[in-house]
Amino acid sequence: MYVIYGLKSIGNRKALAFLHLFYYDLLFIRLNFPENYRTMNILIYPDPALRKKAKPLTSIDKEVHEKVEEMMELMRQANGIGLAATQVGWNVRLFIIDADNNKHHDKVFINPKIIEESGETNKEEGCLSFPGVMSKIIRAHRIKAHAYNLDGQKIEIEAEGLVARAWQHEMDHLDGCLFIDKMSPANRLSVTQQLKEFERTYSKDTGVSV
Ligand SMILES: [Zn+2]
Repeated sequence: MYVIYGLKSIGNRKALAFLHLFYYDLLFIRLNFPENYRTMNILIYPDPALRKKAKPLTSIDKEVHEKVEEMMELMRQANGIGLAATQVGWNVRLFIIDADNNKHHDKVFINPKIIEESGETNKEEGCLSFPGVMSKIIRAHRIKAHAYNLDGQKIEIEAEGLVARAWQHEMDHLDGCLFIDKMSPANRLSVTQQLKEFERTYSKDTGVSV
């Protein structure tokens, strides 16, 4: 009704401009709607919450399911393969991993524990809390672990390669350990400028000096 009225009452050119505005308004609402109603965001280095040690999760209720859903959405939007609860300011021992070669049907790991590590691999790694930063990190090639899934069932995990790497990376997050802590001194030096840029942005946004 609103649009039709607009077309009739104003000339063609004006109507076209009006429609354009209307379209951009819709686009704006569409793009911003999830942002406005989102309760979590991926925290970016050097947010101090990334350094907190996460606490075990004691119950899996509706709120946990909703938060995990939101984490999944954030991770996919950011094209990540793993995201720890601590990265969204949720201080519990939970992470999600969704990698191509993930043989496990479970993608959510609660109160996880690595019980065995073997082999060694040195490959490039990134982190959603450090957009654009990549560095080789030495990790175990294979892991055995256990965790609870979203149904509260205990699950055993055996993984290697990318999934094993993701597991170790996310486990570190739950202890407040970041991948920059595990870089070789030379690799750490090579990302200094990028880290300084994150620190500048954080100070500008929060007024807190780093
Ligand atoms: Zn990470």
